[in-house]
Amino acid sequence: MTKSATPSHLLPVFARADVGFERGEGAWLVSTDGDRYLDFTSGVAVNALGHAHPHLVAALQEQATKLWHMSNLFKSPDGERLAARLCEQSFADMVFFCNSGAEAMECCIKLTRRYHAMKGHPERYRIITFEGAFHGRTLATLAATGAAKYLEGFGPPMDGFDQVPLGDIEAVKKAVGPNTAGILIEPLQGEGGVRAPSNAFLKSLRQICDDNGLLLVFDEVQTGMGRTGELFAYKRTGVTPDVMSLAKALGGGFPIGACLATAEAASGMTPGSHGSTFGGNPLAVAAANAVLDVMLKPGFFDHAQKMSLLLKQKLASVVDRHRDVLSEVRGEGLLLGVKAVVPAGDLVNALRDEKLLTVGAGDNVVRFLPPLIVTEAELDEAVQRLERACVTLAGQTKKEAAQ
Ligand SMILES: *Cc1c(COP(=O)(O)O)cnc(C)c1O
Repeated sequence: MTKSATPSHLLPVFARADVGFERGEGAWLVSTDGDRYLDFTSGVAVNALGHAHPHLVAALQEQATKLWHMSNLFKSPDGERLAARLCEQSFADMVFFCNSGAEAMECCIKLTRRYHAMKGHPERYRIITFEGAFHGRTLATLAATGAAKYLEGFGPPMDGFDQVPLGDIEAVKKAVGPNTAGILIEPLQGEGGVRAPSNAFLKSLRQICDDNGLLLVFDEVQTGMGRTGELFAYKRTGVTPDVMSLAKALGGGFPIGACLATAEAASGMTPGSHGSTFGGNPLAVAAANAVLDVMLKPGFFDHAQKMSLLLKQKLASVVDRHRDVLSEVRGEGLLLGVKAVVPAGDLVNALRDEKLLTVGAGDNVVRFLPPLIVTEAELDEAVQRLERACVTLAGQTKKEAAQ
């Protein structure tokens, strides 16, 4: 691989791997060096339909010849249609479109505070969040995320978030007070290490919200749009939130986020109370409507669930054979994580050497996030590459131990 000597003008906030890509097809990517990689990052759970999906390409190409952008000063016929479809498929009555996950979460937070304020309780603005959470990189969503490593150097974290341990229902009860507005949780933590709260825990949260007039907010930025095997992860939990964020896979790779809410939860959001220049623009909405066209076809989620089961089994058998490298498989649908014994970063690098792309996560976990259209043959290929990486890493570990 040739290393570029040119200094980068990109803000060095990402630890980028030394490889770039120029095109993709389905679960495959071709690097600028001409190498083919199997992509189990899906752009961090974004490219749910893989790269260059023909229906998405056609929809964007068609829209590109008509209208790219309109302000929100006028009606949005395709935005209305997208919102109606998302509501038809979910608990929600109202949708706000924006451009990213963090912005979707900002809207969820503002809507939750405003709900109480417009009912005469502006003092109810605090939101309970959970350790290991990830809600985004804006100042408010960072405060909700609560991780010291992300907050450092950015001044006092924004006030209004009370973080408790994931799964600790007594801590949640203790945290509820006269200033509490809602509870915010990921139905399955992605960045935090593919950590799932139990359904019983989520049910208890619902009960606490009902008993105290709080809004229950699910961050489905990563879990939404089929990632866990249903269109929305909450459907698998038996618990229905009042508010939900979507983003990553919503546009299949085109930036779009959304905040969904019941009419009651959204009742505080009056004209002028929120906005976005780009939010829900025609290109973004065309992409998201095209994603739904594909996902709502009968059998789409059956396939994703079948691939999930197969991948889980195959990963588990590799874990069994390589206890010196891996310890556990976790997750739902195609948001699967393998907990490593070696540093997770070493495993990600060894897999990339085998031309399989994966994503690290908290808790020393490596995420396997194939597109939902992945085939069984591609899963087999990925698992063989994982097997080879394990052999390499085990060899290295033994060598180090011998030294
Ligand atoms: C990625 C992510 C976000 C932030 O999304 P951005 O588009 O990067 O702003 C928020 N919440 C969860 C659960 C995420 O996975």
